[in-house]
Amino acid sequence: MEKLLSRFLEYVKIDTQSNPKSNTTPSTDKQWNLAKKLVTELHQIGMTEVTIDENAYIMASLPSNTKKEVPTIGFIAHFDTSPDFSGFNVRPKVIENYDGKDIVLNTTRNIVLSPDYFEDLRQYKGQTLITTDGTTLLGADDKAGVTEIITAMEYLIEHPEIEHGKIRIGFTPDEEIGRGAHKFDVSKFGAEWAYTMDGSQVGELEYENFNAAGATISIKGKSVHPGYAKNKMINAITLANTYLSLLPQNEVPEKTTGREGFFHVHHIEGTIENAQIELIIRDHDLEHFNARKELLNAIANKLNADFKEKVIGVEIKDQYRNMREKVEPVFHIVSIAEAAMQEVGITPIIKPIRGGTDGSQLSFMGLPCPNIFAGGHNFHGKYEYVPLESMQKAVEVIVKICELTARNRSKDE
Ligand SMILES: [Zn+2]
Repeated sequence: MEKLLSRFLEYVKIDTQSNPKSNTTPSTDKQWNLAKKLVTELHQIGMTEVTIDENAYIMASLPSNTKKEVPTIGFIAHFDTSPDFSGFNVRPKVIENYDGKDIVLNTTRNIVLSPDYFEDLRQYKGQTLITTDGTTLLGADDKAGVTEIITAMEYLIEHPEIEHGKIRIGFTPDEEIGRGAHKFDVSKFGAEWAYTMDGSQVGELEYENFNAAGATISIKGKSVHPGYAKNKMINAITLANTYLSLLPQNEVPEKTTGREGFFHVHHIEGTIENAQIELIIRDHDLEHFNARKELLNAIANKLNADFKEKVIGVEIKDQYRNMREKVEPVFHIVSIAEAAMQEVGITPIIKPIRGGTDGSQLSFMGLPCPNIFAGGHNFHGKYEYVPLESMQKAVEVIVKICELTARNRSKDE
């Protein structure tokens, strides 16, 4: 665990925040700082076919050590951190043998990580926690994933008695701004399937995510002097309000959970003449998802008919899709991960993601890619932390998946 800890602490101290406003890849130059270090390290531990392309996508191989025909599998993590919170000058704190009480992250600013608010903390009593100093995020999302994959590969190299097929690993920039999979060369990666190590709590295993779309509702009004406006003025602001009132009022993020989908209005602006509503649609179920899109158009059609002119325009853009339809036909890839967790003493927590992952994009690019826990909590903010023991478990799960993939294959023969 020493190596795991020192590796992780080194990575989080390197600022790799991505930037959604940039058009380059990686979106920030500073991501190269960690990328180059990772390449050096992959060479050092003895990985082969280590490559980094002009966009900072890193790939490497661990050759098969068996004569059996074993499918090539992959593990993927991202090395950028969220633009939502500072990742500059991260000063991680290591708390050994956590006593289950409040953790003062920052005395001067009185920033406290408390189990009264973050209840998950309680399950880690007695473990080693890595936290922030209260001024930055930690970057366990997803440097924990990166650390775990490298450490697992090193373990397999040091333990040649564990039989495995060819393993590919991939590290990407810019996941946090939704572009991690965009320039990922699936054919160069050459794996039959892969796992992103980018989940949270120990045991998480995810192969379902939202279907996602974004919509812009444009409303055209008519400004007339308010004193002479009767039957003439169309107030775009009022109309925007009417439009929103016709959406199902309980199907919003703050009132839904599990597999329940929603409409989420996240931006609105307007004058009498023009108003614009921006919202997103999320639903695990494809039929319900499509029905939500239809509803957006149906409300517009109704209001346009009422006004006998086109006052409302709807533009919908698909964002990502539920990977389930790509994973279900190859469900053994989930079963192997589940069995691996059980073999290392973890109870798998299988639940639909209320969001998307790079794995969902990769699945539709031809690389089925469920998501596995990396161990961290409270991502994208100053309360982020990760238990070292969870990271250790993730390493064991990776090793076990490699082992089981080879073992399962030999059973088939
Ligand atoms: Zn992540």
